[in-house]
Amino acid sequence: MLAKSRATATTSKRSPRTVKENGRVRTPVAVLGATGTVGQRFIQLLESHPWFHVAEVMASDQSAGKSYAEAVGTRWKLTTRIPEKVAGLRVKGPGDKLRSPVLFSALDASVAGELEEGYARAGHVVSSNSRNHRLDPLVPLVIPEVNRDHIELLERQKYDGGGILTNPNCSAIVLVMALAPLHRTFGVESVLVTTFQATSGAGYPGVPSLDILGNVIPFIQGEEPKMESETNKILGRLGAKGIESAGIAVSAQCHRVPVLDGHLEAMSVKLSRKASLKQLITALRGFRPLDRLALPSAPAEPLHVREEEDRPQPRLDVDRAAGMGITIGRIRPCAVLDWKFDALGHNTIRGAAGAAILNAELLAHAGRI
Ligand code: NAP
Repeated sequence: MLAKSRATATTSKRSPRTVKENGRVRTPVAVLGATGTVGQRFIQLLESHPWFHVAEVMASDQSAGKSYAEAVGTRWKLTTRIPEKVAGLRVKGPGDKLRSPVLFSALDASVAGELEEGYARAGHVVSSNSRNHRLDPLVPLVIPEVNRDHIELLERQKYDGGGILTNPNCSAIVLVMALAPLHRTFGVESVLVTTFQATSGAGYPGVPSLDILGNVIPFIQGEEPKMESETNKILGRLGAKGIESAGIAVSAQCHRVPVLDGHLEAMSVKLSRKASLKQLITALRGFRPLDRLALPSAPAEPLHVREEEDRPQPRLDVDRAAGMGITIGRIRPCAVLDWKFDALGHNTIRGAAGAAILNAELLAHAGRI
């Protein structure tokens, strides 16, 4: 359908801010690292996005110059086909000039730092998944449901017109989404979290099949410190001097498991104020902070609390709310801290591409794109 439509730039040809297609005005975007696991999710999720359309794709030198379909080849691992309009786009190389005002980055962390900064300096707004800038004091690390006020940090960045905004690591986002309403209502003092993380979280080709099939690997490079530090930045307060850490003691133990998509996390929390089971469930179910914003990717029910004793499960619950919902279950008293429960989220959607798209929607809603 899109391939047959005629697009018209509404501003200059060099740098269109919006494009009108089939009567809809949409902002052109580029996907950086478009051929990888997260890049493919961006392409899939943006196919029929009401506000953004994919105008450019970028990847490494080995993909540059090829059509997107040719570059991604048999690495396309999603169950939907490559959108016709993107399949024919010529892949740009690292550092090539881009025209889209908004860039979604799924670049490998070894190159994301410099490339994202270069594009922000050139005036682009970069919504990034990579770890490189997440802990930079001037870069917002945002989950729109939790800390949307942190986007103010963009004003303090040195980029003229451009900027960098990040979303959390895929396991931190599941943890923080579950903690946020509890922290807001009762205060969270400490949390112990054990993760069971899907193989798609390691990118493609990721963990060799002979290492992961029938096995659990109790180590994911850099993951535990990320969960601990990102949680405190996201739940921290924005002040004149920047983000003040939330000061929550977080202890994470991360495991890779032979599951395709979906990070399951078992957590125990200590609260500052006592809470009953009913109060806890009410706080989780009542957490709908984006209700009035009408952002296209925001789930109507961000946290879904299940009462069955064997849920959430990755295979059964990972796609809830188009992969943007977090499912919580098994809430029960903890003999060591106060309460324990399980939470599940889709790592390449809520934990990566969907999170970055939601962040860009928030910026658009705030008039910053
Ligand atoms: P991936 O499958 O390995 O894809 C990496 C992408 O980066 C590919 O498009 C690759 O292009 C491109 N790339 C590699 N070297 C490059 C270079 N020198 N210049 C330009 N592009 C280059 O990795 P992924 O899992 O999608 O992860 C992408 C980023 O998102 C990483 O920073 C990761 O930490 C983060 N992240 C991943 C997840 C997840 O669940 N997988 C979740 C949250 C965050 P070629 O195909 O041309 O090599």
